[in-house]
Amino acid sequence: MGYLADSQRYDKMTYRYCGNSGLKLPAISLGLWHNFGGIDSLENGRTLVRRAFDLGITHLDLANNYGPPAGSAEETFGKLLKDDLAAYRDELVISTKAGYYMWPGPYGEWGSKKSLVASLDQSLKRMQLDYVDIYYHHRPDPNTPLEETMAALDLIVRQGKALYVGISNYQAKEAREASRILKRLGTPCLIHQPKYSMMSRSIENGLQDVLEEEGIGSIAYSPLEKGILTDRYINGISPDSRAAGPSVFLTPEDINEERVLKVKELTLLATNRGQKLSQMALAWVLRGGRVTSALIGASKVSQIEDAVDALRVLDFTEDELSRIDAILK
Ligand code: NDP
Repeated sequence: MGYLADSQRYDKMTYRYCGNSGLKLPAISLGLWHNFGGIDSLENGRTLVRRAFDLGITHLDLANNYGPPAGSAEETFGKLLKDDLAAYRDELVISTKAGYYMWPGPYGEWGSKKSLVASLDQSLKRMQLDYVDIYYHHRPDPNTPLEETMAALDLIVRQGKALYVGISNYQAKEAREASRILKRLGTPCLIHQPKYSMMSRSIENGLQDVLEEEGIGSIAYSPLEKGILTDRYINGISPDSRAAGPSVFLTPEDINEERVLKVKELTLLATNRGQKLSQMALAWVLRGGRVTSALIGASKVSQIEDAVDALRVLDFTEDELSRIDAILK
């Protein structure tokens, strides 16, 4: 049967302006890095995207290389868009990226104009879209002048293939430089996508200040530390978890005793706040409003529901914050 979106989809979600722009993003966004590849169930992906949209998650994040195989997450998403979400295109913010290895030869990765333009054309075909809302440079390229990469992003906006541009995995200094070039070109940088969680805090050492000074929004990826900051691994590695699967980015070795012990301590603290650990982890990322959106992944609908429920308690006492710091020191 066809999909009809929930008429109450905007009731629970909070939307925040992305930096100095006029674009609002949901406080929780959904990424399609895992669970949407050619190896995954299309029907599960459909259920996840439908539930997300029904809960007000208007922002879906992709990249050219998401799968596996690379490119297949965009193809899956293209099917879901066509079947379910075509009528809602103007209610969606869809992003994709280029920068990591995608195809052989000198143009299939990094940050040349040749690479960024070609990759976006491929992404648009796979998703059956005319334009994306946000196009990112996925990682800094030490061998291409930043001016060229930023000029490519500016060109793509002028061609109407993206509405906004962003950068991902850039350090503070290179983010400032990229922002200044983009401002000069007349296409301000909308957003930065860094890794950020209670366990990965490097953006606090300067990058967050740069983003605020430059008026750039931020969307924190892997806010649940790929599943570690949840109840997923408290009783071992279950066969349907990411750590048990083919991902090389989270392996059984990452689930060590010391980490599980910390996770158990954090869980007690979360319980005292009336939250699951996953919810406290998202609230922590969103605390104080410095991060525009927390970009989660999900393999089950219940995980998306948990995430949206986290928005009910975003405040922390000073005592809670220092106890979290002490546990993770
Ligand atoms: P998370 O840290 O949110 O991890 C998501 C995983 O955590 C889920 O797949 C699930 O694992 C587990 N999980 C989620 N909610 C719960 C819950 N309530 N209870 C128990 N387990 C839960 O983020 P990801 O690492 O998936 O990254 C999110 C997105 O960020 C990506 O899809 C992508 O869009 C983006 N990203 C960007 C990068 C970049 O370089 N720009 C790099 C990495 C990610 P399980 O599958 O085991 O159920």
